[in-house]
Amino acid sequence: GAARPASYLDNLNPEQRDAILTIDGPLLVLAGAGTGKTRVLTTRIAHILATGRAFPSQILAVTFTNRAAREMKERIGHLVGGAVEGMPWLGTFHSIGVKILRRHAELVGLRSDFSILDTDDQIRLMKQLIQAEGIDEKRWPARQFAGLVDSWKNRGLGPKDIGEGEARSFGNGLGRKLYADYQDRLKVLNATDFGDLLMETLRLFCENPDVLADYHRRFRFVLVDEYQDTNVVQYLWLRLLAQGSKNICCVGDDDQSIYGWRGAEVDNILRFEKDFPGAKVIRLERNYRSTAHILASASHLIAHNEARLGKTLFTENEDPEAEKVCVAAAWDSEEEARSIGDEIERLQRGGHSLNQIAILVRASFQMREFEDRFVTLGVPYRVVGGPRFYERLEIRDALAYFRIVAQPADDLAFERIVNTPRRGLGDASIQILHAYGRANRVPLTAAAGHLVETEELKGKARTALRDLMQSFARWREQLEHLPHTELAEIILEESGYTEMWQKDRSAEAPGRLENLKELIRSMQDFESLAGFLEHISLVMDRDQDASADAVSIMTLHSAKGLEFDTVFLPGWEEGLFPHQRALDENGRAGLEEERRLAYVGITRAKHRAKIWFASNRRIHGSWQSSIPSRFLDELPDAHVEVVEQQNRYGGYGLDTVGAYGASRFDNRGSFNSTYETPGWQRARANKAAGTTGFATPGGERPRIRQIEGELIARSVVGG
Ligand code: ATP
Ligand code: MG
Repeated sequence: GAARPASYLDNLNPEQRDAILTIDGPLLVLAGAGTGKTRVLTTRIAHILATGRAFPSQILAVTFTNRAAREMKERIGHLVGGAVEGMPWLGTFHSIGVKILRRHAELVGLRSDFSILDTDDQIRLMKQLIQAEGIDEKRWPARQFAGLVDSWKNRGLGPKDIGEGEARSFGNGLGRKLYADYQDRLKVLNATDFGDLLMETLRLFCENPDVLADYHRRFRFVLVDEYQDTNVVQYLWLRLLAQGSKNICCVGDDDQSIYGWRGAEVDNILRFEKDFPGAKVIRLERNYRSTAHILASASHLIAHNEARLGKTLFTENEDPEAEKVCVAAAWDSEEEARSIGDEIERLQRGGHSLNQIAILVRASFQMREFEDRFVTLGVPYRVVGGPRFYERLEIRDALAYFRIVAQPADDLAFERIVNTPRRGLGDASIQILHAYGRANRVPLTAAAGHLVETEELKGKARTALRDLMQSFARWREQLEHLPHTELAEIILEESGYTEMWQKDRSAEAPGRLENLKELIRSMQDFESLAGFLEHISLVMDRDQDASADAVSIMTLHSAKGLEFDTVFLPGWEEGLFPHQRALDENGRAGLEEERRLAYVGITRAKHRAKIWFASNRRIHGSWQSSIPSRFLDELPDAHVEVVEQQNRYGGYGLDTVGAYGASRFDNRGSFNSTYETPGWQRARANKAAGTTGFATPGGERPRIRQIEGELIARSVVGG
């Protein structure tokens, strides 16, 4: 093709162009959301290729997700006018790590066909080692150890690097020994865990200078997106690889550092200039993504953080028609989902593409309400960056328990949970069950019922199985006279399933417990367990078609780097966002990370950002009022429009619903936390006293909800 030379350099601002053309030496691009960091990175690669500075195979480029890697490859292709051949080293840290490790596996004591353990295998292995040391596994659960090892690996610490204090933090002082045993055992099994993909490549480089030198020659250029979220081991790994050419370019935004809870260290930004002397730092200040209202709202919010490098952002987007950032209150999360669903249908009728609409939640349990609503409405949706709510591991496990109780012959469900949590029913026992079931043409539960009476199963397995069968029988009996939601809770308790996650120290465990609670909550909308299970099978039956026009639902964490025309941000309530756990565990730092998450959320929007909060949440069957997120107070009045939902019977009187959000809005439509109604004050007092909100007696819905008033939106902004 006779493409004009360097046409990819058109339409860039001077700073962007500078960042693209400075390809020699270390470079840090430090800039706010939507300023074109990713675009700079992509164009830079195109430029390196177009000018013949390197072959595709000589560029190491790290993205945060596989999807981002795919998109980047595509865009580079567009820019250089034709598909890019290769780019084998464009991917996530893990995908690049595993590739390097396979090539040199024997140098770290593995064979090139090593397997990568999932969490389950990892925990099984650790449990064996803990028991082998004679440590009480009840007191020192393997799951907790898995979390610990993970955090060590994130910090680049091998068994020898663990300090005395930390070693003592697990297993009666045997933490370090267990860690070493675990690593040895992995080698014997020719396996790695996820953390090893980086740890072991790091060790490979350190112990084999010739291998490292080889990669130094190979990687002429190193590029990293979302640099603010690298953890220590990733940083060390990058630094080592970039020492060769010194052509390293990292782009990031300290205000978008949201993985501190997983060991990411924003300090890596500060270290960059120290570790790469003479590094050039370029700041981009023009935002190309969002309207002025959205940008101003996000900037104003993030300015409440103390720990930040600080930056200016401006936009030349001066659309006089631009909508302000909208803040709306709903009665509860169900109404929140319904209102957002209605609005999406309105947008769809107005010709908006669903692909340009996203719902960004703080916690994955919030997805459930939206998924259910969209299934009802027939609005196509996809869950990005994780499974759909009902497909989550913990939800499938819980559903398997419920299914066996309701449908005793459900073999798949039985097999799923027969040894979850672990109760000593390993593969061998299951095979015996299968053999019996096949020979006698009966389902597994029937086989189990028979085998607990015979000698075919050995002692411990037989006892465990008998206990389980007795539990099933008891639950089935209780199904007759207990409300199904109550029974569901009993099942998860008595089976030890809830406890399994309570003991789990991994970063995901608290979210899984929240999801289980949400599952029980969702059952309240159904008359019976059977009715609920039928609903689930209908929901599960829907395929996710990747190419279809569909609304995206995802967590704020996985929305990083993405952009959408319209973004809905539900659940801005104290305790949910900022999340209570972040505040409890990390205090001020935790709050600031939550605020950065809010900043990430708002800045995903190009034209429309709609923030919601629900005035009430149903917790364990009773209603509790919630307090609107403090982040709402931190938005600038001038760029925000407060929309009050009201039903035609005159709205939710404050006396009826307590801390309804309206109390927070004075008649100028701005947030005013000094103007408080009695309901609001009561909620705050209750909160301070540790009693939550004011649940309505008997956990019933307040009467007002029984009037199915049609909701209309009314703006309370004057003028
Ligand atoms: P984030 O911090 O959210 O990852 P970012 O800094 O990586 O954002 P990009 O995603 O690269 O920003 O760019 C944001 C949007 O602005 C994209 O749609 C991009 O195409 C557009 N954009 C960037 N630079 C320009 C430019 N010079 N002219 C026109 N559009 C631009
Ligand atoms: Mg980006």
